[in-house]
Amino acid sequence: MKRLIAFLLLILAYPVWSQTTEISGVRLWTAPDHVRLVFDSSAPLSHTIYGLSKPDRLVIDFKNTRMGASFPRIAGNKLIKKIRGAKRKNGVLRVVVDLAAAAKPRSFPLKPNKRYGHRLVVDLYPRNQKSKKAVRSAADVQQAARDVVIAIDAGHGGEDGGARGPHGTQEKDVVLRIARKLAVLVRKEPGMRPVMIRDGDYYLGLRKRIERARQAKADLFISIHADSFKEDRSVRGASVYTLSHRGASSEFARWLAKRENSADLIGGVELADKDEVLRTVLLDLAQNATMQVSADAAKEVLKSLRQVGKLHKPNVQRAGFVVLKSPDIPSLLVETAFISNPTEERSLRDPRHQARLAKAMMQGIRSYFRRYPPPGTLLAKNASKRHVIHRGETLSGIAQQYRIGLGELRRVNGLRDDRIRIGQVLRIPRS
Ligand SMILES: [Zn+2]
Repeated sequence: MKRLIAFLLLILAYPVWSQTTEISGVRLWTAPDHVRLVFDSSAPLSHTIYGLSKPDRLVIDFKNTRMGASFPRIAGNKLIKKIRGAKRKNGVLRVVVDLAAAAKPRSFPLKPNKRYGHRLVVDLYPRNQKSKKAVRSAADVQQAARDVVIAIDAGHGGEDGGARGPHGTQEKDVVLRIARKLAVLVRKEPGMRPVMIRDGDYYLGLRKRIERARQAKADLFISIHADSFKEDRSVRGASVYTLSHRGASSEFARWLAKRENSADLIGGVELADKDEVLRTVLLDLAQNATMQVSADAAKEVLKSLRQVGKLHKPNVQRAGFVVLKSPDIPSLLVETAFISNPTEERSLRDPRHQARLAKAMMQGIRSYFRRYPPPGTLLAKNASKRHVIHRGETLSGIAQQYRIGLGELRRVNGLRDDRIRIGQVLRIPRS
């Protein structure tokens, strides 16, 4: 018995002092503002990291670690020139990242998930990045009539592949292609401008996506995804989501608690200097308006998606998705199809179908903003005006007032004669 215990102690203690962790892969993702290095390993990696200058490089020492993979070949990366490694004394593996410019590293471990094992993430942010945002937003303010800004968010990216189809299609890839096609359509649309929240194969946190949309002063945030239901591969169709009431109220509490952050504006109003009651009222107003607009826009998008293919759910769905939580940017999430369904997986990969989906989303966005152009935008300026009829007014008088033909005014409003009534609303075409 004693011998058995001694033996057990020996095998329990053994890994602690002598097990070597193996790095089984090194991957690189390039985002617009940083580069992400991911080290895959058989167990959590113990490491120290520091930067050196002249020339700029980054040194990562891994304790008790062995390199079991090759380093990625770097070509055309703005920040990283080369990655190399060497064995040091005491089982230390030293990885050196040769940099094109000074960079600030940030590293953190990731636990295994369905697709990956243990990982160490090293994010590199170039130093001396001057903020261009302040300049751009000042220019935005000066613009007399601005474009409607559509923030297009391709779900997942980089380490996070999203759902996976039976033939290996990754959600992150197909949604990015659809997002890019949608951006092209938005760019062609007079009075509209797209902003790609993710435009490449890299990971972007959910809160970061919201932040990007806020910085771009987006009028609408549309997140593009593909659904998955592995338990039943026959499930198919598109769905459109907006934020649930429960999701909204938890976000409400979060914003109210954010006292210190004076830079945050809600619907263009600063909250930090208002008292508790006023803050609550302002936030409530902004959030309610946002949810109403989200619901209306989602309905339009769902309506046009119906023309492309089958819908999974015939009505707009509500969920507590984090990306939908901007209190003052109307937000919707489109599950374009079920990637877990082999037929839909195939169509998601088909560029023609991707284009059809993008076109349907564009149609929905267009019809929403035609009906409700945000004030101050070109769309609002060019939209047909409305005239409420007051006592004593005549149709010919109104036509004269707006310098348009009487026949034209009749035609646009579907009037057979010149009879009008008080309170009636006329559409006034642009002259
Ligand atoms: Zn997704």
